[in-house]
Amino acid sequence: MSSVARSHDKDPAPGAISAALLDWYDRHARVLPWRAPPGTGRADPYRVWLSEIMLQQTTVATVGPYFADFLARWPDVTALAAAPLDDVLTAWAGLGYYARARNLHRCAQVVAGELGGRFPETEAELRQLPGIGAYTAAAIAAIAFGRRAVVVDGNVERVVARLFAVESPLPGAKAELKRLADGITPDRRAGDFAQAMMDLGATVCLARQPKCLLCPLEASCQGKAAGVAASLPRKLPKAAKPTRYAVAFWLAGPDGDLLLRRRPEKGLLGGMMEVPPTPWRGEPWVAAEASTAAPLKADWQVLPGLVRHTFTHFHFEVTVWAGTAGRSGLSGESGRWVALDRLSDEALPTVMRKIIDHGLTQTAAAGAKQTSGD
Ligand code: SF4
Repeated sequence: MSSVARSHDKDPAPGAISAALLDWYDRHARVLPWRAPPGTGRADPYRVWLSEIMLQQTTVATVGPYFADFLARWPDVTALAAAPLDDVLTAWAGLGYYARARNLHRCAQVVAGELGGRFPETEAELRQLPGIGAYTAAAIAAIAFGRRAVVVDGNVERVVARLFAVESPLPGAKAELKRLADGITPDRRAGDFAQAMMDLGATVCLARQPKCLLCPLEASCQGKAAGVAASLPRKLPKAAKPTRYAVAFWLAGPDGDLLLRRRPEKGLLGGMMEVPPTPWRGEPWVAAEASTAAPLKADWQVLPGLVRHTFTHFHFEVTVWAGTAGRSGLSGESGRWVALDRLSDEALPTVMRKIIDHGLTQTAAAGAKQTSGD
């Protein structure tokens, strides 16, 4: 059996699909700050690149304020390249996948330095740059430079799987979906076509309930005709995520400042700041073991409750211990003291913000309890 359930001998003419979609896009394109209006030509490569990196794994609604903030601080690639990495990581905090921010900064430095401030125009050249993979290179080449490129993200995969009633499951169907997307990508207005596919997936061909009555491709859609559209694309069941555990040490200095430490440059949350934890591992920590990983000796108290966070490949459960210390025992490797009202200046990933919220809430509650008991 073919990987595609239906024969594509009777597929509608690719030109008809792209024409219908572009016509729809001309009337319904979302207005987004990194876009050029439909049919007006090319968008600014810096804006397209910045938005595409931010949009990986993140929604348009979340990205909006970050994009505006980045543009206000660093209006072009040269300005971003000149920024300290720490400022970029701090501005990125909350968007997740922090390796992207580090690569964003490195990429800006290559473009501003070696490439004289100009992004290359072809997919092949773009892929040489830090943090730019196949999808992002195709998106920039098409949207910023009008090159014909096949731009396939999760939204586009969904639209194509439905349009051609592809029944074979992802991720195995990826190559087939890309081939089918290639077949309907026009030579002209490739950037608008790519954005039209993205918009259709985001606003009409929705994951759970496609709005087929509003869709410009309804007449061509084999998934709709077969009554299977909403069940596509099929996906192989995901393996259950494991859970990792850690203890985070909430250490207050004599002035109430909090001890923070920088994570190693390589690896998850690389270079970001953290409330120093034990190693993260697959089984819960017992007190005697965890205390050997504390940054300093202190009279540690276990705070009530847990902090939970989910990463792409695992769940994370953190117990927070609170203690106080003098400044004297602190070595450079242990970290540095940060005043509580300056925490927002730090490059803290979301999981660490959760730990800090938990620590603030629970230590305040413990303080109140002690006061009322006096
Ligand atoms: Fe998606 Fe329905 Fe349009 Fe087909 S007709 S592409 S399923 S919205």
